[in-house]
Amino acid sequence: MRTYEKVGLIGLGVMGYGMALNLLKAGYTLVACDVNQERIKMLPQQEKVIAAENPAQVLEYTNTVITMLPNSPHVLEVLEGENGLLTGEIPEDLFLIDMSSISPDVTREIGRKLEEKGIKFLDGPVSGGQSGAMNGTLTIMVGGKEEDLQDAMPLFEAVGKNIIHCGQCGAGQVVKVVNQLMSAINLISLSEAFTLGTKAGVSPEIMMNVIKGGSGRCWAVEDRMPHILEGDFEPGFTIDLHTKDVKLAVDMAKNMNLPLYATNLTAELFKTAQVKGYGRKDNCAIIKLYEELGGVEVRK
Ligand code: NAD
Repeated sequence: MRTYEKVGLIGLGVMGYGMALNLLKAGYTLVACDVNQERIKMLPQQEKVIAAENPAQVLEYTNTVITMLPNSPHVLEVLEGENGLLTGEIPEDLFLIDMSSISPDVTREIGRKLEEKGIKFLDGPVSGGQSGAMNGTLTIMVGGKEEDLQDAMPLFEAVGKNIIHCGQCGAGQVVKVVNQLMSAINLISLSEAFTLGTKAGVSPEIMMNVIKGGSGRCWAVEDRMPHILEGDFEPGFTIDLHTKDVKLAVDMAKNMNLPLYATNLTAELFKTAQVKGYGRKDNCAIIKLYEELGGVEVRK
């Protein structure tokens, strides 16, 4: 069994920061890297934190690196860009774990390249949001070899609760895209239905309480509706990131020549929310499109 003393973490944003806290809590020394150095300075236990200026520098301290970055281009940049992980001397027994949500095709391509170089690699995108990252209760969808998953288990258990092996390289990303697509479509369904009901004169709070026990219940109603009722659209998970995830689904379907009707409509609605300036708002701000059309606000 592989053991760890120092662990590299690249990307300390909304999710990576919480994961960093839990890796520190589990006793690891963290080799932290983010283009925004302020994120590293915010960490507690600074005596257990080594700030790396770039990805290549992370490898001066550890041969195990987790990435938690926005999208495929960021992961490729960290691997192959200037001072990337693969640009210098590769340490022995290097193990890379990408926990970002990115394209399954790009992930498989990365997996192929790393295997050729003898580098171990897992994809492990997560679900559970900022609170899951802070509380160490993330769901982790793992793609890659079983033996590598066993090696990564101590790290995954430090940041997550449900750790599920989904299949070979890229399978974790496929499951993540499926999950994100469903939650995006559910947000559209919530937005349409609650705008309709509110315009028809019924209290949205009453509708929420009924639907939580009805067949319309879903994460969007249970988790996001309370925020909408309060007019709280601060992220959370942004429209920008969710638009990225829906686009990953659109691209996958295009490559497979698979028509997906609700997916493409959802992609256009999320893009509309971006154009209207809601990109940095929480994904539940998608309801604003319908509120504007209906001339109502779905609030308490
Ligand atoms: P974020 O934008 O808050 O954080 C990304 C971090 O990466 C930032 O701190 C940024 O400075 C850093 N970064 C970007 N490019 C870099 C580079 N080249 N080198 C070093 N650092 C770099 O994003 P997030 O919300 O933490 O999301 C990260 C990933 O997790 C995304 O793929 C997202 O879809 C996924 N995710 C997010 C949530 C959520 O609720 N926020 C939930 C599940 C999954």
